[in-house]
Amino acid sequence: MVGLETLSEDGEVLNYVGGTWTAPDGTDGRDSVNPATGERLARVPFSSEADVASAISQGQTAFEDWSTRPVEERIQPMFQFKELLEEHLDELAELLVRDHGKTFAEARGELRRGIENVEVACGIPSMMQSGSLLNAAPDIDESEVRQPLGVFVAITPFNFPGMIPLWFLPYAVATGNSFILKPSERDPLVPARLMELLDQTDLPDGVVQMVNGGKDTVNTLLAADGIEGVSFVGSTPVAEHVYETSAAHGKRVQAQGGAKNYIIVTETADLEFAAQKTVGSSYACSGQRCLANDVAVVEESVYDEFADLVVDVASTQTVGYGLDEGTDIGPLTTPEHEQGVRNFVETGIQEGATVLYDGRDAEVEGYEDGNFLGPTVFGDVTTDMTIAQEEIFGPVLGLMSASDVDEAIEIANATDFGNAGSLFTGSGADARKARHQLEVGNLGVNAGTAAPMAFFHFGGMDDSFFGDLHAQGEDAIHFYTDKKVYIERWPDA
Ligand code: NAD
Repeated sequence: MVGLETLSEDGEVLNYVGGTWTAPDGTDGRDSVNPATGERLARVPFSSEADVASAISQGQTAFEDWSTRPVEERIQPMFQFKELLEEHLDELAELLVRDHGKTFAEARGELRRGIENVEVACGIPSMMQSGSLLNAAPDIDESEVRQPLGVFVAITPFNFPGMIPLWFLPYAVATGNSFILKPSERDPLVPARLMELLDQTDLPDGVVQMVNGGKDTVNTLLAADGIEGVSFVGSTPVAEHVYETSAAHGKRVQAQGGAKNYIIVTETADLEFAAQKTVGSSYACSGQRCLANDVAVVEESVYDEFADLVVDVASTQTVGYGLDEGTDIGPLTTPEHEQGVRNFVETGIQEGATVLYDGRDAEVEGYEDGNFLGPTVFGDVTTDMTIAQEEIFGPVLGLMSASDVDEAIEIANATDFGNAGSLFTGSGADARKARHQLEVGNLGVNAGTAAPMAFFHFGGMDDSFFGDLHAQGEDAIHFYTDKKVYIERWPDA
């Protein structure tokens, strides 16, 4: 039993279009596989151009009515959705573990972050308001309103299949738009379950829809008429492609890309605390997080001490199945991805980094078909190494030393990415320096994973983000609405 009510008799994940569940009509598809057990959970058939066209047309029709409904009416389904998500939290978390591989606690945490966005979107009546000014000019009052635009699309990655759709969906619909989700084809079961829950709310048919598919489906959506804007989260090359293609077709676009996150540890930091947080951030979700700590740059006076502490904490991590109690690190998403991460480890060794803790031989009894890799710590990493510059997306942490905080900041800024960074320090002056100088969208001070709450925006800099308005919070309201100014004069008044 996979845990979906709408799976077809052949075990296929269906599209959710116009309020009904329909089989995608494309020729391609992919199996959804439990990465710990190798069990095939479902088949994901990909959508054809006709499937995409049908969803767009249904979305346009739904928008005509939905956009005129009072805002109070538009948020009621979000309150219902929040209740359903709470009620089904553990069931969703279990499905997430089976389809993705992360631990049950991580899955619950992910869903909690998703629910936060639904909660924030329930405040749209206040958030969507805009300004007005009496006597802006002689006999003229001016006011600004925000209007929904039409059909929006979100294209999401495999690593947070429950949370990332919710960075967008609640805001898009509460502001009065209709919304199409194209989830990752690698783990589409939780997105499908989210649609089943939304189907139980009072949302009119066609306001929220889901089309399954791969890159062809994405490219059809990007080029299609009738879509106003595109939200994307995924790897940098695809983010850049989505950004350029969407813009070329006259669409609004926000495209979040990959990451290479540096943390800085100064000699005034609480080193034990920093080591705990660094390891936690680096290996959670097997390192498959865009906010994971990838490289720690440590002031040389405390480098050896910090390295020993990190190795100690890394050695306590238990690799296993996410549904088994005591597991800290689950499997990687696919055998191909596991091999890719192993290749990075080999490259690190060939390029001269020192293996301080080797996770390559990790074996998990009873799960011989799983894509497991244990935590790996590299020392003596230098900026010219591949493992210092490229996104690995696995449980691999690199350690570097720097003479002082200035050099550490320079090293951290030398990557192409700018998603997140952290600083562990006891010095306010160093913290202020990092705030001013680190080129990242999310910066943590004495916090391992710099993840903003839903009422703040989420987005990176440099090659980690293409666009201007980010996900979540107020940025989402701006992305999903257009502004109009009323300039009124009533000479008799
Ligand atoms: P991905 O880029 O492979 O896929 C993301 C989405 O794009 C999927 O829905 C997929 O179907 C589609 N896609 C894939 N290749 C495509 C192509 N050539 N043309 C058009 N569409 C295509 O990413 P992923 O492997 O699913 O996710 C991991 C990546 O996402 C990592 O790089 C990670 O850093 C990034 N990520 C970033 C953030 C952020 O906030 N910046 C958050 C989560 C994940």
